[in-house]
Amino acid sequence: MDPVHVLNRSYLRFTVSPSSYYSRFFKSSSTTPNSVTTVTSPLTTQKRKEPRALVDTSLKSGSRCSKRECEGGQHSFVDLVQVAPQLEIRLVCNAAVLPAFNNLVANDTKDDAVAEILNNRYIMPQESCFYMSDLGQIRNLIPALTDSGFNLIVVDPPQENSSAHRKSRYISLQLIYEEVKKNGSWICDLDLFHHRPYECLILGYSPRKVNNTDNQSKFKPVNNDHVIMSIPGDYSRKPPIADLLLEYVPGFKPSRCIELFAREIMAGWVAWGNEPLYFQDSKYFVKK
Ligand code: SAM
Repeated sequence: MDPVHVLNRSYLRFTVSPSSYYSRFFKSSSTTPNSVTTVTSPLTTQKRKEPRALVDTSLKSGSRCSKRECEGGQHSFVDLVQVAPQLEIRLVCNAAVLPAFNNLVANDTKDDAVAEILNNRYIMPQESCFYMSDLGQIRNLIPALTDSGFNLIVVDPPQENSSAHRKSRYISLQLIYEEVKKNGSWICDLDLFHHRPYECLILGYSPRKVNNTDNQSKFKPVNNDHVIMSIPGDYSRKPPIADLLLEYVPGFKPSRCIELFAREIMAGWVAWGNEPLYFQDSKYFVKK
């Protein structure tokens, strides 16, 4: 699976920029996001330097963003919720101004929407929503009616020791770059604890029956030995598996889908987490 190709199916006026998705494979000659970039050999493992803050970082309260809050020109929502919980988001298409945190923000249109927070722009795919909050507020997403819930829930929770995990990922990638084998054989033991180049996807089904049989369609059973191969993105970004999962989802159609602990927003999905806009920053996109 090529993540950039898959993600780009969700956007009409923007495309996900390969040079920012796979930034470690690209060497940028300029710091502007839309600048021309050149592909470098994967042997070059140097990380791309993020552009410095390009935004007016003054908050509503008049205080300034700390370095962490807008590191690399990108806001840290995890920190902002602490210092500016009343922060607002402006949807450029209809000039609606809404609370950015603890609020369901929706793009109901069949077009990409641009949203602004503190002069930074975020791209929302068509018919998507996000709810940006800490775990304490997740109850607000539980539907009032039991039959109006979600029939696909994707969860990628934070893991203990994530910094050690991230560090080991880079080590294993360096190994890969140095030892790429042309005959397609494995370059290292797949089960080294600290150098696992794979993650397991656990699928669970709720035994609850859906009453309205008219809305049900047949779904495929999952094979245990199914493997999805993808190109790693930066910052431990998971590949966009949403579309691949849909054919395995029982229940009403179209499926109602939510991603928990999301760092990006998929078309037709609800994204919840404390930084669901992370990869929606306009620096990851180019205009068509
Ligand atoms: N699936 C995501 C991706 O591929 O980009 C990665 C998710 S990452 C493993 C976990 C996410 O959960 C991070 O964005 C982190 O900020 C968020 N998170 C951690 N603790 C949280 C909490 N208490 N409430 C809400 N989100 C939290």
